[in-house]
Amino acid sequence: MAKRLPKLPPLLQSKIYKTGQTRSANDDVIFQNRANRNGTVLIPFESIHLFDISVFTSDRFESGFIVVLSPEEYYTNPEALNIMKARKLKLGVNAILSYETRAQWNEFNPYKNKLTVAEKRTTPIDGHFVARILSSTSKDEEKIILGFNTSSCKGAGIRVAEYASLLTIKSCHLQLEYLYWLCYDSKEVALSAGMTESEIENRIAAITTACNNQKLANNERLYKTRIIDNVQNTICPLCLKKLSAEAFLLNFFDSSEKSSEKSDSDKDISPINLFYINQLKTGEFNHSPYNLAWGHQNCNMICKETGVIETIKWMKEVVVNTIIFNKDASN
Ligand SMILES: [Zn+2]
Repeated sequence: MAKRLPKLPPLLQSKIYKTGQTRSANDDVIFQNRANRNGTVLIPFESIHLFDISVFTSDRFESGFIVVLSPEEYYTNPEALNIMKARKLKLGVNAILSYETRAQWNEFNPYKNKLTVAEKRTTPIDGHFVARILSSTSKDEEKIILGFNTSSCKGAGIRVAEYASLLTIKSCHLQLEYLYWLCYDSKEVALSAGMTESEIENRIAAITTACNNQKLANNERLYKTRIIDNVQNTICPLCLKKLSAEAFLLNFFDSSEKSSEKSDSDKDISPINLFYINQLKTGEFNHSPYNLAWGHQNCNMICKETGVIETIKWMKEVVVNTIIFNKDASN
C-alpha cells in the first residue's frame, strides 16, 4: 500500500489494534501485562509434551521462549533433566525455576543453591529463578517478589497460547477490519464517526484488495465458520445475530450514563469483543485468521473456555433435556 490510507475512527482503530496484544496480568504472576503477542513466550514445563521438539530448537518464536519449571520438578524428578537435555534446555539460558509457595522457597532455597534472579527475556537470560510468593498474614511473612518486577522489565513473557507472529498479528488486523466493513451498517456508522464518503470507499477498497491478495477474504470459509451470514454480513458466532457497527464505536464506560438520556435511538447495542471460534489452548496456535471473529461480550463469556462448537453441543443438550423434563413434568 503505497498511498497513505485514510484514518479509521480512533475507537475502531484501537479495538482492532488491541487484538495484537495479550490480556492483562497483575504483578502477582510472571506474565507481562498487555504485551504484543509476538513477545517472549513462557512455556510451562508440564506442557512441554504438547509441542513438537523442533519448537525448542528452531526459531519458531520470534522473540524466543523461556521454559518455566517448578523447583520440585527440577530437583526431584529424575526424568526432568533428560527431557531438558533432549530439547537443549538449560537453567539460566532458556529455562527458569518459578517459586510460588513458601514451602518451595524453604525446601529448595535458590540462594543456598547459588542461583541468581532472572531479569532478561532474551537468551541467555542470565539468571535462574523468579519468585511470586504471596504474603501470609497468619505467620506475618512478607511476600517474596523477585525477577521481572522492575518498571522497565515487568513480567517474564506471555502465555504461549496467546502467541502469534507479527505477520499473523497483521493478517488478523486486516481480516478483523474487513469484518468491520461487512457489518450491515458499517458505512453509515463510519460517516457519523467523522469519515467522509470517499475516505470510506478508499479504505474499503484498500482493505478488500489486501485481504484478497493474502487470501483473507474467503467469504465461503467465513460463512462456514459462523463469522458472517449468507448475505455476507458480520454476525456473532454464537447467537448468529447480525452485529451493528455501532458496537465498535461505543465507549462502554460512559454508555450506561448516556443511555438514559438517549431517546433518538431505541436500538439496544450490546458490547462486542474479539471472539475465538476455537478457544486459545496451550499447544495450539489459535490466534490466527479465520479463527478470529467479532461477537457479543455476553456470548463470548459463555464459549470462551470451550470454543463455539463445543458450546453449541452443550446448549443443544440443555435444550433437549429441558424439553424431555418439561414433558415429564406436565404428565
Ligand atoms: Zn451473540
